[in-house]
Amino acid sequence: MTQTATPHDTDEAARREQSWVFFDGEFRRYRDARIGLLTQGLNYGTGCFEGIRAYWSEERRQLYGLWFPEHYQRLHRNTRALQMRVPHSVPELCDITHELLRRNECRETTYIRPLSFKSAEAIGFRLHDIPDSFAIVTAPMGDYVPTGGMRCMVSSWRRIDDSMAPPRTKCTGIYINSALAKSEALQAGFDEAVMLTASGNVCEGTGENIFIIRGGVVATPARSDNILEGITRQGIIHLFREELGLDVDERSIGRSELYVADEVFMCGTGAQVAPVTEIDRRTVGDGEPGPLTLRIQGLYQRIVTGGDPKYAEWLRPIW
Ligand code: PMP
Repeated sequence: MTQTATPHDTDEAARREQSWVFFDGEFRRYRDARIGLLTQGLNYGTGCFEGIRAYWSEERRQLYGLWFPEHYQRLHRNTRALQMRVPHSVPELCDITHELLRRNECRETTYIRPLSFKSAEAIGFRLHDIPDSFAIVTAPMGDYVPTGGMRCMVSSWRRIDDSMAPPRTKCTGIYINSALAKSEALQAGFDEAVMLTASGNVCEGTGENIFIIRGGVVATPARSDNILEGITRQGIIHLFREELGLDVDERSIGRSELYVADEVFMCGTGAQVAPVTEIDRRTVGDGEPGPLTLRIQGLYQRIVTGGDPKYAEWLRPIW
């Protein structure tokens, strides 16, 4: 299938070129922030990124940055693990992001992409003693995956193991693993892939963590099962405990548990809360988004758009 640019794509591209980004210590236009073809981060996947959302509430005429400090703390930890250095503190990064959203006059739900990468332009790779670049880009973003019920397949690609490359670091190069699984699923007509660990436990989606509910008991794969330690996952565990009075079992999950679960959903910054209604051509429960999943989805949507003062500390109003 060939893809041609639509007028909408062209408008988006023109808008992106004009937009402000933060790159190596300065605010610049996207079109002026360029890197060379030999940049090591591009050639070898030696980068580390974050994905953050800011939610627009039409009702409140406000943009709410979600979990800024948590994302930048994770970026600091992960870059340290990869021998990279982000030259700004967490509070500075939160302030820079705030200013960037204002400069771009963001009044719609927006994705924020901080990226740290090895910036030397030379053949060869290593992590130590090489300069890093750091950038933040913003882009409008609606649903990343369907949120009314996803059809999934278990991928033939296993999730990378911590003994091969560190899956918890959000390292750019590791996303070849997710991209292979995502294309396999989309090209087979599914919405998303479920990845298993090398030893066959359920791990996560290609860009989402996964939860199952069986007999009113909620479970999600443990950190030791090579998951990306999702910030949304942490927030959802909190909501189950505090708002629904349900504990969440962080444990290994077998593949066939997906087939017998009453409810399954995925979550992440991009995916938000996305019910899974079919896996490997078997319906999950009765094939409709489950009641607990819908409650969590509703709570999440209300909180992130500023509708629950109890969770105001999760948010940073931009305007
Ligand atoms: N797993 C993977 C592989 C991801 O890329 C993401 C998105 N960052 C997640 C899970 C969800 O993490 P978070 O909730 O922090 O966005």
